[in-house]
Amino acid sequence: MIHNNVDFDTYLKNYPDEKGYFGKYGGAYVSDELKAAMDEITEAYFTICKSRKFINELRRIRKEFQGRPTPITHLERLSASIGNVQLYAKREDLNHTGAHKLNHCMGEVLLAKYMGKKKVIAETGAGQHGVAMATAAAYFGMECDIYMGSVDIKKQAPNVARMKILGANVVEVKEGLATLKEAVDAAFAAYAKEYKDCIYCIGSVVGPHPFPLMVRDFQHVVGEEAREQFLEMTGELPDVITACVGGGSNSAGFFSGFLNDPVKIYGVEPQGKGEKLGDHAASLKYGTEGIMHGFNSIMLKDENGDPAPVYSVASGLDYPSSGPEHAFLHTIGRVTYDTVSDDEAIDAFFKLSRMEGIIPAIESSHAVAHGIRLAKQMKHGSILINLSGRGDKDMDFVIEKYGLRDNK
Ligand SMILES: *Cc1c(COP(=O)(O)O)cnc(C)c1O
Repeated sequence: MIHNNVDFDTYLKNYPDEKGYFGKYGGAYVSDELKAAMDEITEAYFTICKSRKFINELRRIRKEFQGRPTPITHLERLSASIGNVQLYAKREDLNHTGAHKLNHCMGEVLLAKYMGKKKVIAETGAGQHGVAMATAAAYFGMECDIYMGSVDIKKQAPNVARMKILGANVVEVKEGLATLKEAVDAAFAAYAKEYKDCIYCIGSVVGPHPFPLMVRDFQHVVGEEAREQFLEMTGELPDVITACVGGGSNSAGFFSGFLNDPVKIYGVEPQGKGEKLGDHAASLKYGTEGIMHGFNSIMLKDENGDPAPVYSVASGLDYPSSGPEHAFLHTIGRVTYDTVSDDEAIDAFFKLSRMEGIIPAIESSHAVAHGIRLAKQMKHGSILINLSGRGDKDMDFVIEKYGLRDNK
């Protein structure tokens, strides 16, 4: 299928190009030292990811440790409450540790092992990436340093405890606002010093090449499985698919299974509590081209051109940019990016819980809300939602902030 001069028959092979570009987005804008480290990872990845041994080991781990394939669930009661359109969910919430993040963490740490590294380094904000990394590191018997701002350490006590129980070393970052941005800077600085013995594992399809490529490839299993399962279940492809976009990893993997199909694809950004800069994290909707964290993409900037403060009720979605592949798919119009507000996401959180017995992560609730909105607009057809994670981590917050709604 050709869309806007891009041939999707060969897309996954040709995008990104060898320098890591999806059109003009992507690349590796890092210091010379880090560039050498990135080149080492790129070279190792391209060799190792083709080896039978690596492929078979990853496949076995996915089946025996992660619990893959994750199922697709037909959301029958929810669908019937809206009309004729049938809603389905790809259940990444049933992955071990409760979200899609383990898909790329297991791949990244297995790669580290094949490269002979002893340690993995990562940053974390809300702690979800840190927990997935700590899990993967424990599984492979690797040392693991997780950089985290002191503010986030205080806010995310249960995830900090999880990381420590799993044997990770949580490194407190006290600089600046002591949140995710400072944690990223500190982790990169540590990596530049230690890169001979360790690798840095990024938590989404962001950062310098080869991470947007590698993380998408490790998440590709989601889209590949979903396509096959949906065909088997219904005899057809879904008419529409939708997924939430923070950095963009769950969506990139999910979309990659359907890009070459006549399927309408939506990414959902967080509209937060409004349209003002600082009230949302809808980077593709309001952002402009720019470079941050080592890659060129579309980003939200403050008056100095630095990454702007962003907000979403879903802490996994509040990132001031999205992966370069999303900027590209947005620019060529293959994927349509929409937004969902905090309130719509929380409504969907309760709806899915009460009508289907599935408590979704607030991040994933954005995709659920979007699926519900589309189901109301369409007269017939099917919608497949990527349910990126489970909502156990969000329950205390939701009850405290929104109460136990009596939504009839
Ligand atoms: C981290 C997270 C996200 C957002 O990250 P992406 O890279 O955009 O997928 C979405 N859902 C859940 C459950 C998460 O933990």
